[in-house]
Amino acid sequence: MAGEAGLEIRDLSVRYGPVRALREVGLTVPRGAVVAVLGANGAGKTTLLRAVSGTLRFHRGGVASGSVFFGGSPLPASPAAVVARGVIQVPEGRRVFGRMTVAENLRAGALGVRDRAAAAGARERVLTLFPVLAERAHQRAGLLSGGEQQMLSIGRALMGCPSMLLLDEPTLGLAPMMAARIAATIGEINAQGTSVLLVEQNAATALALASHAYVLEVGEVALSGPAAELAASDEVRRRYLGVG
Ligand code: ATP
Repeated sequence: MAGEAGLEIRDLSVRYGPVRALREVGLTVPRGAVVAVLGANGAGKTTLLRAVSGTLRFHRGGVASGSVFFGGSPLPASPAAVVARGVIQVPEGRRVFGRMTVAENLRAGALGVRDRAAAAGARERVLTLFPVLAERAHQRAGLLSGGEQQMLSIGRALMGCPSMLLLDEPTLGLAPMMAARIAATIGEINAQGTSVLLVEQNAATALALASHAYVLEVGEVALSGPAAELAASDEVRRRYLGVG
């Protein structure tokens, strides 16, 4: 298995009824890596994450063909089974439970973790990465700022002790300083051993974090390669980095 038994997507095609969202996409996230997926609105980035996380069928009859392997064996198309395999998605739009407290949100992320020592370790890790979540533990999540909600959303996912995070536009809509902080923390999370599949419209942020990147255009992989090479390519600079 390529990619040291990380995530391996082969010939993935997805339709929503008559709408073709992805066509024969291949993508690898080696274990321990950050891999970025770039692309304009509607290119199919979120669909790719849904196909991995097993949530596609909840979206107007999304149907996939192709294969998704993780850790050397097929990943079932069921959200609970995917989470149980250690692959956890942080959805776009910071979907925290707004009426619940920060602490309750974090506990919800740990529901599937039976090993109490692992759950305690995950909590410690989250509160060290995001000290503000400890300060706000008893506040309603809906009262947090956008950046803090993104921290909570990532923190909740980390409570499930993932070996891979699927991040959908984690810096979208955040002020530049907060976006930079979130990006730096994603780097830290990866340095601690968690693989990351990062979907981003902000190509500069994504290419700075990732070792490899893929550019999706209208559902197909238009370009892929080492992030440094893509960052230097004229086409990427012109179309995604606003340079040249
Ligand atoms: P964005 O950045 O806007 O989220 P994206 O790159 O994540 O864009 P997708 O959301 O995956 O792109 O959408 C890919 C294509 O699939 C688009 O043509 C979109 O209109 C279509 N699509 C996405 N979700 C659905 C759905 N639930 N039903 C029908 N079509 C959908």
